[in-house]
Amino acid sequence: MKILIVDDDPVLRQILQTYLSRAGYEVALAEDGRVAWEMWQKEHTRLIITDWMMPVMDGPELIRRVRGASFPHYTYIIMLTAKEGKSDVIFGLEAGADDYLTKPFNTGELRARISIGERILNLETNLSQALARMEELATHDPVTGLLNRRALYTHAEAELNRAQRDRKPLSFVMLDIDHFKQVNDQHGHLLGDKALHAVATTLAQNKRPYDWAGRWGGEEFLLVLPATDSQEAALVAERLRVSIQETRVPLPNGGAISVQASLGVATSTFEPGKAYTLDLLVHQADEALLRAKREGRNRVCVFDSKSTAVTT
Ligand SMILES: [Mg+2]
Repeated sequence: MKILIVDDDPVLRQILQTYLSRAGYEVALAEDGRVAWEMWQKEHTRLIITDWMMPVMDGPELIRRVRGASFPHYTYIIMLTAKEGKSDVIFGLEAGADDYLTKPFNTGELRARISIGERILNLETNLSQALARMEELATHDPVTGLLNRRALYTHAEAELNRAQRDRKPLSFVMLDIDHFKQVNDQHGHLLGDKALHAVATTLAQNKRPYDWAGRWGGEEFLLVLPATDSQEAALVAERLRVSIQETRVPLPNGGAISVQASLGVATSTFEPGKAYTLDLLVHQADEALLRAKREGRNRVCVFDSKSTAVTT
């Protein structure tokens, strides 16, 4: 662990550096609060031991700045100072210090207090990792690793709002694996999951960085294509269809199967008198998808309000 030592007394800095280095810590040194603040902004050292009285910027001001910064991880701060009055201790803690030690300090006590800080930082790290994992679970589909329906809905809604604001088209591509039930029936659900994963990987690889891809449910996937008209969306969908057709899902005892998919495209345009909602777009993409299924599967259909689907 790295510790940032902030003190205007060079002798004390040296003593602390020697002692803490010997104890196995990596040490950074700053001669006043301003230097420490600049260093911390670059490195975000998670444990700081700071003096109170220093020229340019004092300890309490440094602490206030660190506390005011929006950095995702916690910084544990121990104040080390000659001020020892009760009101000083209270002021230091109220400025945001986690702990307080008075000079001259006992090295054993300092070491013990650093250990407390490390324990708290470890707890915070574990907690934020658990939260990140929960966030991942809440927004992603475990089988495919893509966004789940709820998360996709949130992104799609934001994109529709943005498209309306910018007066740009927005396209949805609804994709359904053809004869997926047969894959499950013939090869088991484990292979079915592998096929879903393979299609999801193909989707993720073929989408553009600003597109959103997710599992809509079952063997159905939805792709949200910002600033994309129906012609362009049909090209993206066709490229996807071909890539999926070329994807091989290996069988456990050798060999491989391939899957195919049908895709439906719907686009919101901003002609006067037309109001699009998310549900309408999803419904239209579904309609186009059904038409692709009806017309023989393994194809792309674009939704057409006049019910004459354009097939590519
Ligand atoms: Mg001082």
